[in-house]
Amino acid sequence: MKNKGLLLVVSGPSGAGKGTVVGGVIATSDKFKLSISVTTRNPRDGEVDGVNYHFKTMSEFELMIHNNQLLEYMEVYGNFYGTNKLFVEEMLDNGYDVILEIDTKGAMAIKKLMPDAVMIFITPKTLDILTQRLVGRATETKEQIDRRLSESARELSFADQYDYIVINEELDKCIDQVANIIRSEHCRTKHCSQIIVDFSK
Ligand code: 5GP
Repeated sequence: MKNKGLLLVVSGPSGAGKGTVVGGVIATSDKFKLSISVTTRNPRDGEVDGVNYHFKTMSEFELMIHNNQLLEYMEVYGNFYGTNKLFVEEMLDNGYDVILEIDTKGAMAIKKLMPDAVMIFITPKTLDILTQRLVGRATETKEQIDRRLSESARELSFADQYDYIVINEELDKCIDQVANIIRSEHCRTKHCSQIIVDFSK
């Protein structure tokens, strides 16, 4: 029998470049699966339903909560975001490593629910870099940027709850570091329990 996959939770302040890092990590191995969240927020330009998110109406989202189809869900910046439970469970059972890119509140809920999850926090070196990235992205209004910046300060206060903190200064290096963390985590005894069972036969 094979080992179950690892559940990896990636968070960090808005503008830390988490999405790009996670995309880069996913591209390094076909053993990685990105959990595509469900959200009630409107798609940004270029975002595709089923690729970036599963975009839902509020009533569709409420039905998913009612049917216990979400592993966790949170309200972030006035919109709802949630993790598709069935997808995560099926992928883990099939031996894939599943990456959740979620906010710190959702991450704390996962940590309680699944204590073996590997928690990774991605951050830029300074808050100034965050501001520059958010303004440069130009996908939000000034008001939305201000809200995201104050939310970023709150997100940063959760960094000490994570197993790893990775500074995203150079993208390739950051992707490499996260991929290395995952490789090392696979060697932890608790994640290789099947080998020990097989040895003792
Ligand atoms: P954005 O609107 O920029 O795509 O995402 C806003 C925030 O929601 C980000 O911090 C992102 O990580 C978080 N997020 C995305 N999907 C989920 C999810 O399924 N659950 C939770 N708790 N947060 C999510």
